[in-house]
Amino acid sequence: AEWQGVNQFAFYTDEMDQRMIERQTLETALRSALDRGEIRVAYQAQVNLADESLCGIEALLRWESPQLGSVSPERFIPLAEEIGLIGELGELAFRFACNQVADWDRVGFRVPRLSVNLSIHELEQGGFVERIARALARSGIDPSRVELEVTESVLMSQTGDARAALSAIREMGMRLAIDDFGTGYSALAYLKRLPVQRLKIDRSFVKDLGRDLNDESITRAIIGLGRTLGLAVLAEGVETREQAVFLSREGCQEAQGYLFGRPMGAAELARRWAPRRDR
Ligand code: C2E
Ligand code: CA
Ligand code: CA
Ligand code: CA
Repeated sequence: AEWQGVNQFAFYTDEMDQRMIERQTLETALRSALDRGEIRVAYQAQVNLADESLCGIEALLRWESPQLGSVSPERFIPLAEEIGLIGELGELAFRFACNQVADWDRVGFRVPRLSVNLSIHELEQGGFVERIARALARSGIDPSRVELEVTESVLMSQTGDARAALSAIREMGMRLAIDDFGTGYSALAYLKRLPVQRLKIDRSFVKDLGRDLNDESITRAIIGLGRTLGLAVLAEGVETREQAVFLSREGCQEAQGYLFGRPMGAAELARRWAPRRDR
């Protein structure tokens, strides 16, 4: 019936209008968020499964907007990529995190490794390498303590700019980890030739360990792959003791997840993990 079609059309336009208004609001707010200092960095612990000691931290962007409340990176990162703000945001995360690690060094809290996320759009943007080289040099921390997390699609990307940026990262002495491993489309044969040192098992496989045999097999396979190729393996999204025990028994060395701590501000992370000096 014709009226139904008309109604449906009206429904879609309303919804589209609504979405466009939301997006526009978000975009306007994000554009000023950087200048207004609304963007911060949270840190999440990464631990050695053997003794649950701190082996690294991951820097994660946080946006607390006075109008919109706290906005998830799952929403504002893709938007930032789209509107060309990811370069600035990524640089902020990198610079804040390097400076934080340097500050901690000075007070005797030595974080073994700092992981920062990197989007393909950043790599493809001109000046990326210069910007992070400068931030790294200013912080004074050793490049070998810094690891950049990229997804499989980034590594498989054939664009010249991204490739050149990845080699520059390696030449500077930083390390690379594959984030969300297993969810992308990396051809396994490539893994050997890529300049990566670590695989991060995606949370979607870790979630049902102990309940889902397929996820257990995949997880076991990724750990085995890491061992064969000489890559370190870290499991993401570990929330239960049962998952940690499974991973440890299967030979996974490192983990990250709510079981060991949520992403938190710098002061809280230090309270939780810095060696106590009042002894
Ligand atoms: P990601 O890099 O895979 O980061 C891990 C996400 O999982 C984080 O979400 C973290 O808070 C969450 N997580 C950690 N442990 C657990 C757990 O045990 N259970 C559950 N359910 N979740 C856990 P977050 O902070 O919301 O970040 C989402 C995504 O946004 C990140 O996924 C990353 O892709 C992106 N992102 C965050 N910060 C940056 C950044 O500085 N640059 C870029 N390019 N992307 C970023
Ligand atoms: Ca990550
Ligand atoms: Ca991840
Ligand atoms: Ca992710």
